[in-house]
Amino acid sequence: MRLVLVGPPGAGKGTQAEFIAEHFGIPKISTGDIFRANVSGGTDLGRLAKKYMDAGDLVPDEVTNAMVRDRLAQPDAVDGFLLDGFPRNVGQANELQGILDELGAPLSVVLDLEVDFEEVVKRLSGRRTCKKCGHVWHLEYDAPSAAGICDRCGGELYQRDDDLPDTVRHRLDVYAAQTAPLIDFYRNVGQLVSIDALGAVEDVTERAIAELTPFAD
Ligand code: AMP
Repeated sequence: MRLVLVGPPGAGKGTQAEFIAEHFGIPKISTGDIFRANVSGGTDLGRLAKKYMDAGDLVPDEVTNAMVRDRLAQPDAVDGFLLDGFPRNVGQANELQGILDELGAPLSVVLDLEVDFEEVVKRLSGRRTCKKCGHVWHLEYDAPSAAGICDRCGGELYQRDDDLPDTVRHRLDVYAAQTAPLIDFYRNVGQLVSIDALGAVEDVTERAIAELTPFAD
């Protein structure tokens, strides 16, 4: 299955992506995670991306597209993948189409996680990410048993700079202007499946898997 996940920041894309990718046995490819790994590793790409990420802006398309093109050429993506956080605008969607045409590997489906904006602000401001394994916790909805420590690996939890309130607002504006048009883009080509992404994490995962299973081969 070749799957794209869309939805506003805070819709739970990263969390759902982990479970969905595991269920279908496909690699999860998250552009946000790849950028963050580059920032932590102090690479040139990381230094460039950080400026945009800290401001809540999109990293320029040439940079992001090249990174995704490389990643999709890796052997583990041959039999399918889940893209989380890409495409983020119509230009990237066209680029993805081009890459997949070249690979002779059409997209199976685009899953749209629907949540309202008020909920998204609440979700993002309570979010805490593990420095070590990248797992995302939430102070209210999915709290770790000891404050500030990841239950999975014992790593230290932190609040991403781009989850601070002003940046969250800006990211939502960027989403509305640039990413939301993708919903119509994929609906118009008959590739969109939308689900209600409110509620318990497991319930949303169950809904997602039920909708996606017909597309698995
Ligand atoms: P995310 O973890 O998906 O919320 O991404 C965090 C940040 O990484 C975004 O706010 C952008 O600055 C950058 N980013 C992630 N994916 C993309 C993309 N497809 N295009 C441009 N920038 C991106």
